[in-house]
Amino acid sequence: MHMNIAIDGPAGAGKSTIAKAVARELGYIYVDTGAMYRAMALYMIQQNIGEENWEAQAFTAESADITIRFIDGTQHVILNGQDVSDVIRTSEVSHMASVTSANPAIREKLVALQQKLAASESVVMDGRDIGTVVLPEAQVKIYLTASSAERARRRYKEMEEKGTLGSETLASIEEGIIERDYRDSHREHSPLRQAEDAVYLDSSDLTIEEVIARILSIISEKGEAL
Ligand code: C5P
Repeated sequence: MHMNIAIDGPAGAGKSTIAKAVARELGYIYVDTGAMYRAMALYMIQQNIGEENWEAQAFTAESADITIRFIDGTQHVILNGQDVSDVIRTSEVSHMASVTSANPAIREKLVALQQKLAASESVVMDGRDIGTVVLPEAQVKIYLTASSAERARRRYKEMEEKGTLGSETLASIEEGIIERDYRDSHREHSPLRQAEDAVYLDSSDLTIEEVIARILSIISEKGEAL
């Protein structure tokens, strides 16, 4: 049976870790849509396109060829032939992605790519507008969130472990998260919001395993009802 699962929520709620594990468990493909917005943002930075210059962004986006490739079940993001999976994880790209993703021309291009992927395969897709805009017919929708303090703490730990903290502090990370939440949920086009038929899950006081188990049980209940 072809089944699509949408997981939306704010930055740092654990969506990608959870979505990846759920996809592995079900044998579905995991699609990280944030990585596509990040690749597009990286391209805008490389091309010296200003944050406010929507027209130039729309024009420049036309020459960005973004594809995703699955190598041993892991998603790799390819920007004009280059694997950019790692370099899109900096704070600079995070910031630029939350700015350029408000541009409707950029959204239109990436949403089409996401819909194409979900039409051909069963996917677990995470993002901000998957349940509301990209896959409104998804059989299971989850809205995964956590407090900004908890999300900052997790991000800090992750960056510390990877050695990518640089000059960031817990406070600067939380500030960045709050700023991105605000921009993502107040933009005009496809703002972050919970779909009416999504299950709300606050992961602040749950372990990763608990969240995964909860989502798998929601999916199996849904699968039985279909
Ligand atoms: O999820 P991640 O933090 O990697 O996403 C980076 C940025 O891409 C987000 O801050 C958001 O602005 C944008 N995004 C989006 N719609 C999605 C996924 C990500 O606007 N479906």
